[in-house]
Amino acid sequence: GKADIECEMLVLGAGPGGYSAAFRSADLGMQTVLVERYATLGGVCLNVGCIPSKALLHVASVLEEASHFSDVGVSFGETKVDLNRLRAHKEKVIGKLTGGLSGMAKARKVEVVRGYGNFIDANHVEVSVTAGEGQDATGEKKVIKFQKCIIAAGSSVVKLPFIPEDPRIVDSTGALELRSVPKRMLVIGGGIIGLEMATVYSALGARIDVVEMGDGLMPGADRDLVKVWEKQNLHRFDKIMLKTRTVGVTCRPDGVLVKFDGDQAPADEQKYDMVLVAVGRSPNGKKISAEKAGVLVTDRGFIQVDKQQRTNVSHIFAIGDIVGQPMLAHKGVHEAHVAAEVASGLKSYFDASVIPGVAYTEPEVAWVGVTEIEAKATGRKIGVGKFPWAASGRAIANGCDYGFTKLIFDEETHRIIGGGIVGPNAGDMIGEITLAIEMGCDPVDIGKTIHPHPTLGESIGMAAEVFEGACTDLP
Ligand code: FAD
Repeated sequence: GKADIECEMLVLGAGPGGYSAAFRSADLGMQTVLVERYATLGGVCLNVGCIPSKALLHVASVLEEASHFSDVGVSFGETKVDLNRLRAHKEKVIGKLTGGLSGMAKARKVEVVRGYGNFIDANHVEVSVTAGEGQDATGEKKVIKFQKCIIAAGSSVVKLPFIPEDPRIVDSTGALELRSVPKRMLVIGGGIIGLEMATVYSALGARIDVVEMGDGLMPGADRDLVKVWEKQNLHRFDKIMLKTRTVGVTCRPDGVLVKFDGDQAPADEQKYDMVLVAVGRSPNGKKISAEKAGVLVTDRGFIQVDKQQRTNVSHIFAIGDIVGQPMLAHKGVHEAHVAAEVASGLKSYFDASVIPGVAYTEPEVAWVGVTEIEAKATGRKIGVGKFPWAASGRAIANGCDYGFTKLIFDEETHRIIGGGIVGPNAGDMIGEITLAIEMGCDPVDIGKTIHPHPTLGESIGMAAEVFEGACTDLP
């Protein structure tokens, strides 16, 4: 049949991966169509992920800081939270950003097609058109013929099969809706998303329990960072249950009853007013009829790609959450640029050495590159330069002298291969360590770089100085 639209580049999905890919493709001169089922651009990240969570976490951070201020002689009145206005604030933040994206798409003449896309062959996608707001299909179908395609269809929340449908049981999207503040809340899953939402609800007044199957919170991060975070967060939690599973959930009018099993499981069922299920995300690879285009999808729904983001079908690329871990916006954006550049004939590769991870909790925890856990597991010989913030003038002045910064070096090459920070603004500061790793810096490069005083960022220079002596014999 005949196509309704023809284009050089079709991008499927308009999350951070998709819109970045579409914009770069258009900037490189390709006539680009962007297909998105939702009314707004921005995907999970802008609509129900990174951005709304940070809008709420900022409020949590201010509340947390203010709560310590009576110690320094400054007191505020009782905290009053108007959930409607807080929600409106969050919506406004999202609206500014998604509106901005629409403008950027228009400016680049990227044609946005609203609707759900499925492949019909290796050069056509059929879109079930949605009206925009409300997102119901209109019944109209549009066939788009493309020369090249970038799949950026993202991921969805993982559901636990034994958990019933009930308005008090939510996923991250439901939690971000901020319908009410429960008295007692259970967070299932001790990863970044679960702990960020725990921070928000605790700041708004909820008592929190966390249950995690693994043997620690924030898997992936070094334990010394997490230990400091835990100490600062003891006041939020009634129970942190590690190596424990949720095995049964019963909804009753007076509360949600939850049964646990494992090392730290309480003997009795526990009653909650709200339960957040944050046990991970799964890729959308099986939901786009990829097989019709000949694109291979793994059992788990991932699409495998090479270093140029190509799938097994050479003119079809894939990026973002759908191609693998870590499922982070900045990884997807980076891959998007590679895919768009390769598709337009440039020689690009995904060759980032490291991808930083950040928990935007209170305080923040950030890490990048090789961790101590990883070095131990692989037998890699490392040196660790640690700078406790108890020796930082700015940290003491700011009341965050519990934090620390560490750098991890390769014992042989003396290059910096990893780092971690716990404390306010850790996420902003990890960028410097990321750059240092990408540029192959040794401790002298950082130690001899003049950092502004007094800042928390200085701690990176100080951590490097711990190891500078070891490098003086380098050529
Ligand atoms: P997505 O953002 O998932 O976008 C995919 C888009 O494709 C969606 O808009 C979807 O509607 C659309 N789509 C899918 N299939 C089709 C189809 N067949 N037809 C049409 N459209 C389709 N990451 C960070 O880096 N930092 C953070 O602070 C952070 N916080 C997070 C907080 C929460 C609560 C959550 C849930 C996630 C967070 N993430 C964070 C992860 C981040 O949101 C994802 O890594 C990122 O959104 C992935 O981008 P993507 O472009 O691959 O896919």
